[in-house]
Amino acid sequence: MIKIPFLNIDAYYLELKEELDAAYRRVMESSWYILGRELEAFEAEFADYCETKYCIGVGNGLDALHLILRALDISSGDEVIVPANTYIASWLAISYTGATPIPVEPDQKTYNINPLLIEAAITERTKAIMAVHLYGQPADMDAIYGIAARYNLKVIEDAAQSHGARYKGRRVGSLGDAAGFSFYPTKNLGAIGDGGAVTTNNADLAEKVRLLRNYGSRIKYENETQGFNSRLDELQAAFLRVKLGKLDEWNARRVKVAEQYLKTLVQCPNLTLPIVPDWTEPVWHLFVVRHPQRVILEQHLSLSGIGTLVHYPIPPHLSGAYSGNNWQVGSFPITEQLSKEVLSIPMSFHMTDEQVQTVIKSLMEVF
Ligand SMILES: *Cc1c(COP(=O)(O)O)cnc(C)c1O
Repeated sequence: MIKIPFLNIDAYYLELKEELDAAYRRVMESSWYILGRELEAFEAEFADYCETKYCIGVGNGLDALHLILRALDISSGDEVIVPANTYIASWLAISYTGATPIPVEPDQKTYNINPLLIEAAITERTKAIMAVHLYGQPADMDAIYGIAARYNLKVIEDAAQSHGARYKGRRVGSLGDAAGFSFYPTKNLGAIGDGGAVTTNNADLAEKVRLLRNYGSRIKYENETQGFNSRLDELQAAFLRVKLGKLDEWNARRVKVAEQYLKTLVQCPNLTLPIVPDWTEPVWHLFVVRHPQRVILEQHLSLSGIGTLVHYPIPPHLSGAYSGNNWQVGSFPITEQLSKEVLSIPMSFHMTDEQVQTVIKSLMEVF
């Protein structure tokens, strides 16, 4: 029997039913569903939240990253540095433009891209570095920016897992030339369907993304460039406005859950816990532990009715999507090792202390 599911996706509705229902009625009664007042308001509110000048709502997180790269004129023949250890969307956004993703291995402690390994991956074709704030923990942006400045590269943040996280006091989304967010329902800020956004302080870049998401058009039927159709719709924007009001509180609860896990699970031998450098304030999209025999943990928790997931079992370079490239088993050994050892245990804003203790107790039993 499932006692503690990995994720209780309906918890937000129990909490915010009235506000969400009101948002729904507001949009239904407005008879305006695309590019309207809700989106404009959400864009202003989310830019404010991320401490950036601009926010552009788009169809999903993958499109957010793709449109940023397009707006930066990255295309075929170019190379973009990307973490080897990430969700495949980071890579696909680069491949969409015709450019080549150049993977770099993660830091063993934070699982984020290792800045010390970036320079060796730079060639004269390199145009940008995409940093991913994996599991909700910011990448080491100062180190990344230092390298980018020396080689005149753009820096893109994949912030799909890190809404609200801070790096040296500054919000994720404001740390690079532009950032891509996802509002996939399971993210820290999730829509009730697909959604995404780009944040930036660069007016020119913001304008380009705005054009690209709407058929390359500013004025109806005048198409300045070959754009795309990727807009955050009014219903999703209205729902997101309600949920954005709760984000800090929900993230704070995740931090509390993480603190309990970190405090107690240190007693488990061979269990590697997440390490938080003192310059980051992560938002714990996922709580990922590591063990040489992951399957033992997985099975034991499962028998106790506790759901777990693996993020991610197959690294992008070994997936069918990139089988045409020259990567093979052994190309990125740290990433491959992680894919065999990581396990995500329940983590969400609505977990009770009792549920957290149940997870801890069950894990302790294995050791
Ligand atoms: C979810 C996610 C994306 C893609 O977002 P979608 O909205 O699903 O397109 C990109 N990068 C990372 C790291 C993600 O976790």
